[in-house]
Amino acid sequence: MTETAILWLRRDLRLADNPALAAAMSKAERVLPLYIHAPGEEAPWAPGAASRWWLHGSLASLDRELGAHGSRLAITQGDSLETLCAVAREIGATQVHWNRLYDPVPRGRDTRIKLALREQGLLVESYNAALLREPWEVRTASGEPYRVYTAFWRKCAPELLERKPTATPDIFRPAPEYTGLPLAELGLLPRIRWDQGLAARWEPGEPAALARARTFVERDLPGYAVRRDLPGIAGTSALSASLHFGEIGPRRLLALIGELHGAPSSPTAETYVRELVWREFAYHLLFHYPRTPEVPLDPRFARFPWRSQEGSSGSGLSAEEALAAWQSGRTGIPLVDAGMRELWHTGWMHNRVRMAVASFLTKNLLIPWQAGARWFWDTLVDADLAANTLGWQWTAGCGADAAPYFRIFNPVRQGGRFDPDGDYVRRWCPELSGLPAKHIHQPWTAPEALLRTSGVRLGQDYPRPLVDLAKTRQEALAAFETIKRPWASQPSF
Ligand code: FAD
Repeated sequence: MTETAILWLRRDLRLADNPALAAAMSKAERVLPLYIHAPGEEAPWAPGAASRWWLHGSLASLDRELGAHGSRLAITQGDSLETLCAVAREIGATQVHWNRLYDPVPRGRDTRIKLALREQGLLVESYNAALLREPWEVRTASGEPYRVYTAFWRKCAPELLERKPTATPDIFRPAPEYTGLPLAELGLLPRIRWDQGLAARWEPGEPAALARARTFVERDLPGYAVRRDLPGIAGTSALSASLHFGEIGPRRLLALIGELHGAPSSPTAETYVRELVWREFAYHLLFHYPRTPEVPLDPRFARFPWRSQEGSSGSGLSAEEALAAWQSGRTGIPLVDAGMRELWHTGWMHNRVRMAVASFLTKNLLIPWQAGARWFWDTLVDADLAANTLGWQWTAGCGADAAPYFRIFNPVRQGGRFDPDGDYVRRWCPELSGLPAKHIHQPWTAPEALLRTSGVRLGQDYPRPLVDLAKTRQEALAAFETIKRPWASQPSF
């Protein structure tokens, strides 16, 4: 009998190093690559607007790639289990293969689907395409999950670096007849086209991801350790969205590093490989602490005196108004505003600036980290529940391996150190571009005459700072004192 398989594609939108694809192509004579759009099944973390934009491009690209191998991508929408059952009946499929997801809600759904399909007599197999190691395989000596990155790194690094990519199949099986939907029917692209900045910056899809990876590893990896912290230059891989959607996997990246630099463990590669392992650590944490997208890992922070919606943000503005100023890059703190505008225009923000804007929101404005995480979720093309949760909790000081709360990023000093000439701020806050480097990160300290000759009218073209950085730092420290000692009362701001 001819075996027919469904290859259920989700966040593994690639042909190379795709274990579910390789297995389906080797175990069945006909294979239907299928994408089922079911965002409601990921609620409350259904893909945000920028992610949907990327997904559209990535699906279109995968269809082209499959087409080049005599196959194609079938697209449909609806309840995943019902759709899989209906499609299996229609095409006579006896097997379903997919690569695993690790976010709590889709993970629960996938487990239920696996059981239901097996009960119907189908062969159902899942695989690991996204990670170097399964999150449940790594434990401390006492059997607990890791909560400290350095210990996780020490434990995992030697073994993780051994992971090899799965071979791309030599033969692509033909897809059986199935009429799905045109991609456009999924409505992933915005109706009001605000996405020009994203289109100018990014090219979703596996071929572009591989090309970017190759250029990065070949040309930029040797300088990464130094250049990765400078937001004014393209010193990082910019592969996070491709990794999130599985256009490329970490094993393929390690193999590429091995090919071009000897071994992934070489000193040239270590700083970059450590970042890939941060990604692994993020998935490890999300797997073991599935409530952390909403709830702080450090339980003391459940009592943290964030400013309430109606409360003042220390600037005369309500917390809601302060959040809106942060979102739109109008806080009057140049590094923060440059970052938020980069995010809005390109769907991405440099890591160092992500830390600075997150610290400003949570520590200087005392707005809950969850509000920032939500904004990032909607605006980042690389929005990833594991990495976003880790990034926000780490910066807010309530997560694993947290920087002590009192280590508050000063965006003026961060700017002076990592954007010393102000190139990054000038690019995203052009109204400040006439200012000399000395004042670009703190225009409020510039003498009136200099502001005038630089063409800057504070409070008109560019806002005055929303808050006093030193004063709000002290307030944040005082707020932290209240949760350090359970018996202390909350301060009134
Ligand atoms: P590179 O410097 O080239 O790093 C290589 C890869 O390592 C990245 O592509 C990414 O997959 C991974 N990586 C790097 N740093 C981290 C990290 N701290 N945690 C987990 N993985 C990491 N990253 C996301 O992919 N999605 C998010 O939603 C996200 N939200 C964040 C929110 C905050 C508040 C912070 C501080 C960080 C967040 N990050 C997130 C992590 C990091 O900022 C991005 O991964 C990085 O900027 C992506 O750029 P790159 O691909 O050029 O990174």
